[in-house]
Amino acid sequence: MNGESDAARQAHVQTERVFASLAAYQHALTSHVDWLQSWYSSVLNWDDHARPNPAADHCRFTAWYDGAGQSVLAAYPAFAELGQLHRDIHFKAEQVTERAAGGHTVTTSDYEAMMALVLAFSTTAQGLERDAWRTLATVDALTGLGNRQTMMSHLIAERDRSIRLKQPCCIGMVDIDHFKRVNDTFGHAVGDRVLRAVAEVLRNTVRPYDVLYRYGGEEFLVCLPAATQEAGIQVLERMRAAIAALSIATASGRSIPVTATFGLAELSADLSVEESLDHADTALYDGKRGGRDKVIAWNGTSEN
Ligand code: GH3
Ligand code: MG
Ligand code: MG
Repeated sequence: MNGESDAARQAHVQTERVFASLAAYQHALTSHVDWLQSWYSSVLNWDDHARPNPAADHCRFTAWYDGAGQSVLAAYPAFAELGQLHRDIHFKAEQVTERAAGGHTVTTSDYEAMMALVLAFSTTAQGLERDAWRTLATVDALTGLGNRQTMMSHLIAERDRSIRLKQPCCIGMVDIDHFKRVNDTFGHAVGDRVLRAVAEVLRNTVRPYDVLYRYGGEEFLVCLPAATQEAGIQVLERMRAAIAALSIATASGRSIPVTATFGLAELSADLSVEESLDHADTALYDGKRGGRDKVIAWNGTSEN
């Protein structure tokens, strides 16, 4: 599975944490580059009274790396590789420093070996940063769910998979009821809190292999692999009840009522993903007309 679909499957990416991790990472890299420059210049202009310090503990990258267990960057494969390359660079620097201190000439091959490590470190460091940015590009910043761009490519892949495995696959469209009223009554910031709370409820209600997306402003989509229509209705019904039971209070203690309406459709070999999305949308619209706070499955007719 490639990085993009991995990210799409992640239950929850807190974009603030990724940004904070990237900022700390960039500081650590800068510290390593500073160390490298000063070490190089000291080796080139050798002075017994001001010897270069080759040790890894002299470079703040080490402290960052050792404490980076909490960093979201630690989850990427390039992270381990980067740590190894960093240790290799300092090990090589210690060898070269010892040689210079012993009055030996630092050879071209020493420099070449060092340069190869520095280049590998730099390439790996850029790759790690790219991985983190790719994750950010696939995620909706407000809710941490997959964004709409990721959703389409994932749904196309899920449709292909369900055809290949001859398994059903359902999609559920979710639209918060009268959400404009929430914004109008309580303000946009409270509206955002409600969106986050609904996303959290959806996350807690799905099965591990279901994938959630923020489809639009106050619309979400859930992909339910291996779910028949009956199973899909059960999942959506559970979500509907959990949202209706949400208790969100304003700062002044007023309770905000929240419900959502759901439309269910199947992905199938006979339909494009767009057509299935249209079916889910039609079913959802039917639920809205029928009074909201409902789960409706597409029943095969445009009147539904
Ligand atoms: P219905 O029950 O028919 O779905 O009514 P509704 O009010 O939920 O639907 P409508 O489409 O009229 O309004 C959706 C509102 O969602 C309007 C828009 O301002 C709001 N909205 C969209 N994105 C965001 C967001 O990111 N944050 C907040 N706070 N509001 C948003
Ligand atoms: Mg809507
Ligand atoms: Mg709505």
